[in-house]
Amino acid sequence: MTNMEIKSILKTKGVENLFHANTVCTAITFLKYGGLLSRGAVENMGLIQTSQISDNDDKKYGVFYDIFFDSVDIHKRTNKLNKYGPLTFVYNLDVIDSLPEGSVKITKKNPIHWTEDMRDNEKYFTDVDELEFCFQKGDFGQHITLVDQHRPISFDYLCEIILDNPNLIRDKDRMILKKSRFYIAETLEKCGLRSLLVNRGCSDQCNCSSQYNGYKEGYIYYRFSPEIEL
Ligand SMILES: [Zn+2]
Repeated sequence: MTNMEIKSILKTKGVENLFHANTVCTAITFLKYGGLLSRGAVENMGLIQTSQISDNDDKKYGVFYDIFFDSVDIHKRTNKLNKYGPLTFVYNLDVIDSLPEGSVKITKKNPIHWTEDMRDNEKYFTDVDELEFCFQKGDFGQHITLVDQHRPISFDYLCEIILDNPNLIRDKDRMILKKSRFYIAETLEKCGLRSLLVNRGCSDQCNCSSQYNGYKEGYIYYRFSPEIEL
């Protein structure tokens, strides 16, 4: 499938933006180096990122150099915090136009559910008709991935950066969030992207505040702190 074919199907399915959530620590690395980076690229460049339990599997299945996007804002859709992190990069779908042919693939299910004997066409959509028939906006296993990325994905196509804004109970947690917000704003200012920062406005149904408050001490630090001891 060509990039244009993929983009056009995504458009007909109502996908206008691509969403990538991450921790503040990893997001700051992206901001400092001019774009979203694959986990492999961050590692090779000797930069900082929070570890993910899927890292070893990602290497095993050859997706360590891929950048993963969702077709919807998962936090908004589920009324729950996004387990990948509190900062969501929102890209315009047009970013696909800037990528070489073959670098856009869509998974059929999340690689954490892949097995070693699966063939390429079991892992990814490889056919226009199949993608057209089976792709569903908001299916959390169907990731739009940019494969084999060794360089940053430019912020030229970035529309928004949404930072979670939970109502935190513990003073210590509130202080971390305040410092984090300040540090992110300062970093964005340096990158000329300050105007893209948005504080997340949750619906009354959203459970993220009680989730954040329910985690043991240290969780807020791990998710929101710009610098983490690794
Ligand atoms: Zn929320």
